[in-house]
Amino acid sequence: MAIFDKFQHIVEALQELAESGVDTINVVMEQIISPTEAMINGRHTILAGTNNYLGLTFDPDCIDAACKAVHDQGTGTTGSRMANGTYAGHVALENDLADFFGCRGTIVFSTGYVANLGVLAALAGPEDVILLDADCHASIYDGCRLGGADVIRFRHNDVNDLEKRLKRLGERTENALILVEGIYSMLGDRAPLADIAAVKNKYGAYLLVDEAHSVGVLGENGRGLAEEAGVEDSVDFIVGTFSKSLGSIGGYCASNHPELELIRYASRPYIFTASPSPSIIASTRAALAAMRARPELRQRLWDNARRLYQGLQEMGFVLGPEPSPIVAIRLGNKAEALSLWTGLLEHGVYVNMVLPPATPDNFPLLRCSMSAGHSSEQVEHICEAFDSLRKVAQAS
Ligand code: PMP
Repeated sequence: MAIFDKFQHIVEALQELAESGVDTINVVMEQIISPTEAMINGRHTILAGTNNYLGLTFDPDCIDAACKAVHDQGTGTTGSRMANGTYAGHVALENDLADFFGCRGTIVFSTGYVANLGVLAALAGPEDVILLDADCHASIYDGCRLGGADVIRFRHNDVNDLEKRLKRLGERTENALILVEGIYSMLGDRAPLADIAAVKNKYGAYLLVDEAHSVGVLGENGRGLAEEAGVEDSVDFIVGTFSKSLGSIGGYCASNHPELELIRYASRPYIFTASPSPSIIASTRAALAAMRARPELRQRLWDNARRLYQGLQEMGFVLGPEPSPIVAIRLGNKAEALSLWTGLLEHGVYVNMVLPPATPDNFPLLRCSMSAGHSSEQVEHICEAFDSLRKVAQAS
C-alpha cells in the first residue's frame, strides 16, 4: 500500500466532508436544461457556478456548427497536429482569433490548462526568470515548473512589489517574463494592468496576460483587460481558453511576436497531445462570431453581475474587492461555508465552494459566476436564497 500512503490527507479530508453530510465535489447534474439550469438531486436548480459567461453553450448557431462538423468530419482528430496533421478548421480558428485580437498569430491548444503549460514550458527555460502574481492559476504554476525558469512570486496585484523584484534582476530583465491574469478566478478582481505594463516597458521585460476569465467579459470589443486598460501594444502574449465565454473546450496563445510560431516546435504539451475535435473547433468559431456580433451579451452579463454583487453587499456579505461576473463570498469558517452551500442547493441554487488551501487568503469562499443567460427572475431567486439563508443563520 506504500505507494498510496501519500493520499492519506485526501482520505481524511473526504472523511471529514462525508461526516458533515455534504459532498461539494461529486455534484452530478442529472439533466442539463439550459446554460443556467440543471436537475441536481432531482431538483430543478439554477446554475450560478459555471463560467458560462455569455451563456453560449446552447446557442443554436454554435450547436448547428458543431453538429455539421461531426457529420462532415467525424467525432475526433485522433492525434496531434504535428504527428497526424492539421484540419482546415484549426487554421481557420487560429486566423479568426488573430483577426479578433488584431495580432500577427495565434496557436490553438487542446485546453486552457495545456495552453499555459505549452507556452510557458517552451518560452521560459532555465536561463529565464518568471515574475508571477501570487494568485495566478495552477496551470501557470505548472507551466513554470515544466519550463524550469527561476520563479519569483510578487504580492497579488502589488505593482511596487513587482518593480522591486524586477529592479533586483539587473540585466536579467531582458530574460524576464511577467505573468498576470485579466480577472482572477477566485475573487474576480482585475490586475492593475496599465501600471504593470508601464513597469514592464520601463525594465524591458516581457508580459503575458491570462485572459481566461476576461475575454468576452471586458473591453469594448470583448478582447479582455488589455483592451479595457488600453495596453494591448504592451502585452507580449495573451493566453485564453474556449471553456468559459466561448462555451466549449480548448485554449490559445495570441501574440505579435513572429517567434510565436516557433513555440509549436518547442512545446511538448502542443506536440504530444491530440488536437481539438472538429465539433469543438466549429462551435468555438461560431461562439467567437456571436461574441463579436452581439455586444449586448456582455451588457446583460454585467447587469446580472452588478445586481448580484450589489444585492449580496447590501445583505452584509463580505465580497471580492470589485463587482465582477465572478462574485466571491468570504466566509468565516468551513462549517459556515458548508452550511450556506448546502442551503443554497436546497433552495435550488448551485454555486462553487472553494476551501483553503485553494483560496487566496485561507478563508473558505463560495464562488458564484454569473451569465448573460441568467434571466432577471433567476438573479432575483439567487439573491432571495442568500437572503433567507442569512436570516436563518442570524436567527440561530
Ligand atoms: N487559466 C485560468 C486563469 C483559469 O481560471 C483556468 C480554468 N479555470 C485555466 C487557465 C484553464 O482553462 P481550461 O479549463 O480551459 O483548461
